[in-house]
Amino acid sequence: MPTLLARCPRWVRRTWTAATATLALAVSLLVAVPASGADSTPGCRVDYAADQWTGGYTAQIRVTNLGPALSGWRLTWTYGGDQLVTSAWNATVTQTGRSVTAVGTAWNAALPSGAGTAFGLQGTWRSAAPTPTDFSLNGVPCAGDGTVPPTTPPTAPGTPDPTPSPADCGGAALCTDFEDQTGTSPSGGWRFTAPDCHGTGTAAVDTAVAHSGTRSLRVDGRAGYCNHAFVAATADLSSVGPVLHVRLWVRHTTALPSAHVTFVSMPDASQGGRALRVGGQNGALQWNRESDDATLPAQSPAGVALSRPLPTGSWQCLRFAVDTSAPGLDTWLGAEQVPGLHADGIPTQDVDQQWLARTTPPRPTALRLGWESYGTGDDTLWFDDVAVGSAPIGC
Ligand code: CA
Repeated sequence: MPTLLARCPRWVRRTWTAATATLALAVSLLVAVPASGADSTPGCRVDYAADQWTGGYTAQIRVTNLGPALSGWRLTWTYGGDQLVTSAWNATVTQTGRSVTAVGTAWNAALPSGAGTAFGLQGTWRSAAPTPTDFSLNGVPCAGDGTVPPTTPPTAPGTPDPTPSPADCGGAALCTDFEDQTGTSPSGGWRFTAPDCHGTGTAAVDTAVAHSGTRSLRVDGRAGYCNHAFVAATADLSSVGPVLHVRLWVRHTTALPSAHVTFVSMPDASQGGRALRVGGQNGALQWNRESDDATLPAQSPAGVALSRPLPTGSWQCLRFAVDTSAPGLDTWLGAEQVPGLHADGIPTQDVDQQWLARTTPPRPTALRLGWESYGTGDDTLWFDDVAVGSAPIGC
């Protein structure tokens, strides 16, 4: 049986927002899995030490290989509360629902017999954050039953592939690398569109810059309300779900402006066809709902700080999951799940209170990539390796 050792709670000082310093209760927990059994030889041991305060936590996790040498390791566990990993170091950590997977990085992937390695993570929680106890190493529970982990990690179903693979979207409703485009005008499954009105903005197939192969979509976005320019997929996405997963690679030139802009626009049946939009405001990524102009996060300084800028001059993997059956929205920039771009059924100050004012879940029916400005904001963007499906799609 796992042993849970709790050290005495202690008070620590934490900076909770940029604006306010808050004293919060920090609880440090150490869990060792498993307890030593009289007649069993465990394959692994995990020490999970967490510091937690109201709404957040960090954890230092040490995994020790008690079996034969491993050429690679994958540690998995399940959170019993609503913890949400937002960043990690010394391991690649992904989370799907309550299931968390940590994979060793290039320099700490090998784990000799008897050796251990440590990694850390940071996250948020709202209602509860109990310490996990069901750790498995390479698919084998650290339960002291004498089973030793296989020497290489198995492929975990549903775990995003950490290796970028443009073609890795089998089964998706929409999956394109734009290599089938033959001219500069989008064709086949894509067409140019300018909802509402169109001025000088352009969108076309480009052969000079690409994430995969030699082709991508290039959008020259222009400031001003009537410069909408998009390329729309002709695929009908109205039956993709119940959670609609989108993965796209985007590269842009100019930092997101202070004014509101959009670069992904999805017609939404729950808004009578008005758009569910991904873009930016106040220099950071933002969701926006056209029908009521609600934003996620809220545009307070604390809310904006929980989002992220979109880095310029390099390809960025942007993924999002839109729950069409319940209030729920998640967004990943690279490996990070962005805390300010997360909505669930529980209102969170500076994040989703405005967003949750509308209770009808969204129902996106199509995907448009381009540029829509409502004030200032010129940008040149490229899109490539775009996929939409009912299951998570890796970068
Ligand atoms: Ca391409």
